[in-house]
Amino acid sequence: MNPALDPARFVAEHVKNIPRSGIRDFFEIVQSMSDVISLGIGEPDYVTPWRIREAAIFALEKGRTGYTSNLGLPRLRQVISRYLERRYGLGYRPEAEILVSVGVSEALDLALRATLNPGDEVIYHEPSYVSYSPSIALAGATPVPVQTRAEDEFRLRVDALRAGVTPRTKALLLSFPTNPTGGVLERDDLAAIAEVCCEHDLLVFADEIYCELVYDGVQHVSIASLPGMRERTVVLNGCSKSYAMTGFRVGYACAPTPLIEAMMKVHQYAIMCATNMSQEAAIEALENCDREVAAMRADYERRRNYVVDRLNAMGLPCHAPKGTFYVFPDITPTGLSSRDFSLQLLKTQKVAVVPGMAFGTNGEGFVRCCFATGLEQLREAMDRMEKFVRDTRA
Ligand code: PLP
Repeated sequence: MNPALDPARFVAEHVKNIPRSGIRDFFEIVQSMSDVISLGIGEPDYVTPWRIREAAIFALEKGRTGYTSNLGLPRLRQVISRYLERRYGLGYRPEAEILVSVGVSEALDLALRATLNPGDEVIYHEPSYVSYSPSIALAGATPVPVQTRAEDEFRLRVDALRAGVTPRTKALLLSFPTNPTGGVLERDDLAAIAEVCCEHDLLVFADEIYCELVYDGVQHVSIASLPGMRERTVVLNGCSKSYAMTGFRVGYACAPTPLIEAMMKVHQYAIMCATNMSQEAAIEALENCDREVAAMRADYERRRNYVVDRLNAMGLPCHAPKGTFYVFPDITPTGLSSRDFSLQLLKTQKVAVVPGMAFGTNGEGFVRCCFATGLEQLREAMDRMEKFVRDTRA
């Protein structure tokens, strides 16, 4: 028999120190149970609109099964450029300022790995998407969380940002609308943040994956559209959430040519290119699916209104998120930690939510509920949660 593999010898130090995602651990428990209503996974419940699927099928029929250019299909890059101009007033040249990636996940990783050196600090706002802190660390830099708070509807306050800046700060990772809080930043908030970035010569990684999912008439503004910001921003965006295309794995990064060139080097050696037929599907999504997105958005807004009303009525305070498909209620009235709340809710009522701790220590005291689930299911989940809260507080 071979001796067991020695992880102390074979697993790299910088990987050993990265914690596993709290969401993944939790969902291994969920998967071992039956009849659970899941408000856990951050994924649209819609199947990808038919015309997008049809574009992928058509691409396969036509035999588009080879590699594409490293930067992505030229036609897709033209379409991305037109889409960003039309929706957000951004101007990026398809030939040299846009890179198509395998989801926003890869685009973010490329941006971090292509720009950061050991000793650099990157500020990000917390509670935040689970991958930010580990991705910054895996790129060799130091993640610096800055807290956002429920009383500000989880906006990033400029005084908190200023307090996080040191001589080693190289970049700000900005993600609005925000997973898991549903917070948004509007033009005035962004202008104040942009001023700090210019003053301290910071790069901005702007993860705008939820840009289409905004409610109450809010217009998403990209920080790259503000004066002085285009030259210091990497816009990260993709099709996963807005077009219900999580499994297609298409994202993109837009930035000045030297940054795209640097990201391209990492991308071409690690990944080569995004999947050919998924890129064809993305062309259809970005060109022709405004109507489908509007219908999903309207439906999410109805579900959000329902869930927010129910949570507040059962004594778990939360603001009505103006973006994403997440609501982030305060569970401290139950006296439970976010982990105990989520575990006990799962065990006694078979409803899965994500403990706020999974989104950083600043997420403690909250849980994330995803409302990208049918209204019937949401109704049942809220009834069960209400019972759980009543029993816990009794
Ligand atoms: N960024 C944020 C804020 C997310 O919430 C997610 C997925 O949940 C991603 C990026 C990853 O997106 P993709 O599926 O495009 O890799």
